[in-house]
Amino acid sequence: MKYWGFLLAKLLAAYAVLRLLWFLIETLLPEPEIFLYTHLPRFPNDLPWTAAILFFWLFSLGLLALIVWDQRTRCRTCLRRLRMPVESGSWSRATLFAPPRKSLICPYGHGTLDEPVAHVSAQPPSEWHPHGDIWKELETLDRKPR
Ligand SMILES: [Zn+2]
Repeated sequence: MKYWGFLLAKLLAAYAVLRLLWFLIETLLPEPEIFLYTHLPRFPNDLPWTAAILFFWLFSLGLLALIVWDQRTRCRTCLRRLRMPVESGSWSRATLFAPPRKSLICPYGHGTLDEPVAHVSAQPPSEWHPHGDIWKELETLDRKPR
């Protein structure tokens, strides 16, 4: 729940930034001149307005892609960035037997994200594997008689 709430918070923040940017575009760019007693729409007829919409669109897509990429590489429990990438598998047997994969782990041991490196349509999607409480496991190892 915390994971999806963080995504929602980032999307709302991005919406606020984009709304402010849109307000600036609307206020800073002047209305186009009236041509032959007709008021043409701004978008396809006014070059600065059309260019502003193009860059606004590209910025919006980049911001959305950044949010999705950042969310994918966060721990599902504590929301910290996943670290320590470890690659497994091999490229020489990538088609069927051991496709190359990359594992990222939470620095506090909450889980591991296992994602494919080769982006092929037959690849399984990224998987999140939650870990148990590693501190309890370490305590039980310490309590065992030697
Ligand atoms: Zn974590």
